[in-house]
Amino acid sequence: MFRRPRPTHDVRVVAVTPLTPALVRLTFAGSTLDTLALEHATQWVKLATPEGHSRAYTIRHHRPVGQEVDIDVVLHGNGPLSRWAATVRPGDGAVLSGPRGRRPSFEDADHVLLAADESALPAALTILDELPRALPVTVFVEVGDATGAALPLPARPGLTGHWLIRDPDRPKGRTLADTLLSTDLPTGTTAWLAGEAHSVATVRRHLLTDWALPRDRVHSKGYWKHGEANHKD
Ligand SMILES: Cc1cc2nc3c(=O)[nH]c(=O)nc-3n(C[C@H](O)[C@H](O)[C@H](O)COP(=O)(O)OP(=O)(O)OC[C@H]3O[C@@H](n4cnc5c(N)ncnc54)[C@H](O)[C@@H]3O)c2cc1C
Repeated sequence: MFRRPRPTHDVRVVAVTPLTPALVRLTFAGSTLDTLALEHATQWVKLATPEGHSRAYTIRHHRPVGQEVDIDVVLHGNGPLSRWAATVRPGDGAVLSGPRGRRPSFEDADHVLLAADESALPAALTILDELPRALPVTVFVEVGDATGAALPLPARPGLTGHWLIRDPDRPKGRTLADTLLSTDLPTGTTAWLAGEAHSVATVRRHLLTDWALPRDRVHSKGYWKHGEANHKD
């Protein structure tokens, strides 16, 4: 089997904007970024540093005319990409390859549940950007502390947002999973879950078994996994 090579884009950092103490927005510019063929929410690229480390990151915004993208990176401090993002400066180079990712379908949903940690918040926000405005949406985001909840969710009718402050004594993802295990779901829910792999798997199982949601109504992906570098779901 041959795989079509992903388009690659040589880019430079043009702005570094802290969004919260745990999340930084990197704005990249590159002369080929107008050709980045983004088709739907949650699409992502491999972001490679000059040292050759590469990881998956969501395209939060694409400005084809300006040949720019924004990528919001969690500063968790444990991996090469997180450390690079904490010290990167305008003018530094990188390579983006992609976009990649499957389109999550919310067709026929009467209610949408979005559950994320900081790493999946950018993708959840791309979904919110695209969902029909009248569709009721409930968002749960697990963050490290109250400063992590400082990001505004978009103003839209029917949006209920819950910022869950993580208990520092418990593994990341546990607060999100426990909350969802005890949350009632409206009928006609389609769910999108992403974040730490164990917590995502726990919630997915719960939705499929306890709530008997059909598989095509539960979109889930482990974006990272405790103790595993460069996790692939
Ligand atoms: C489709 C997709 C889209 C993604 N979009 C984004 C995005 O927009 N923004 C974003 O920040 N991340 C995003 N991620 C997650 C990101 O790819 C991982 O967090 C990645 O592991 C970070 O690389 P690293 O070099 O910092 O850490 P790695 O070298 O991969 O891991 C080193 C250690 O850090 C831990 N670790 C990794 N990520 C986290 C984390 N978030 N919090 C705490 N500990 C962690 C690992 O368990 C491991 O022990 C996405 C992942 C996928 C699959």
